[in-house]
Amino acid sequence: MERIAFVGLGNMGAPMAKNLLSAGLSVNVFDLVSELARPLAEFGANVCETIEMAVADVDVVITMLPAGKHVKAVYLGDETSKGVFSLLKKNSLVIDSSTIDPESARIVGEVAHEKGIQFVDAPVSGGVAGAAAGTLTFIVGGHEGAFSQAEKILSHMGKNIFHAGGVGSGQMGKICNNLMLGILMSGTCEALTLGVNNGLDPKVLSNIMLQSSGRNWALELYNPCPGVMENAPASNDYKPGFMSKLMLKDLGLGLEAAAQSQSAVPMGSLARNLFALHAMAGNDELDFSSLFEFYQKSEL
Ligand code: NAD
Repeated sequence: MERIAFVGLGNMGAPMAKNLLSAGLSVNVFDLVSELARPLAEFGANVCETIEMAVADVDVVITMLPAGKHVKAVYLGDETSKGVFSLLKKNSLVIDSSTIDPESARIVGEVAHEKGIQFVDAPVSGGVAGAAAGTLTFIVGGHEGAFSQAEKILSHMGKNIFHAGGVGSGQMGKICNNLMLGILMSGTCEALTLGVNNGLDPKVLSNIMLQSSGRNWALELYNPCPGVMENAPASNDYKPGFMSKLMLKDLGLGLEAAAQSQSAVPMGSLARNLFALHAMAGNDELDFSSLFEFYQKSEL
């Protein structure tokens, strides 16, 4: 049986690792914050004190880290470590499911290639609920052989697995998706606030828009107005979920990609600025749907 190391056990990584364990796979787990790793022991994980212990003798490494700089430091090394690539066997498979800039994914992929290691970038969509239910969408970049190896493992954590192209294309697909999500969440907050300010019940208004042309993912599965949807972060003090600072990062990645390709992204730019103002006001660690409060507070 393949041995897997799972690194990064935050809001997404922990439920994803649990699904691998439920499928009966052998999983070593590591997070810089050891309190996040320890609870996985009761699901059968081998909890490791260091990343070196986690990746020793494994066939597959999966990372779920915040941003490109963390992914590069983990695989390529930094002033404190030699990097995971120097510890892996040839032909090991590396799956990075973090959302990062495509350039960092390509740099990591090139070093993997030089070392005879298979690498795919495989960012996800579906949020914490999708991670817990094992219904994530994976958007994978890498060559065909690496993709088919990765697909078997990803199928324990996700429902839809897309091959977007070569290394880095998974990230590009994900960045486009989250540009759209940032815009949709902003628009949903805006429309709900407008309705409430004009006397409508947010539950009734949400139901109306769900059966009308304003229907979208944020409204359907992640309603940002407290009390409308019992299981959404909005009804749980905006506990993440998907932190505002991560949405801000993703919209920044969208703007960088737009600058490089001379694409016009006026709506994405506006959404990024809204999330920047919201994060700067001290909401960076709240769920991104807390942007709803930005609209509340901006009432005159
Ligand atoms: P998170 O901050 O909750 O988790 C990241 C984890 O990585 C933390 O526990 C942190 O301690 C750990 N970490 C950082 N550096 C490390 C290192 N060097 N070694 C080991 N562990 C390290 O973030 P999250 O919400 O789980 O998101 C992870 C990634 O997935 C991000 O790139 C995010 O953009 C993306 N994503 C998140 C969601 C979501 O709904 N939360 C959805 C889709 C994609």
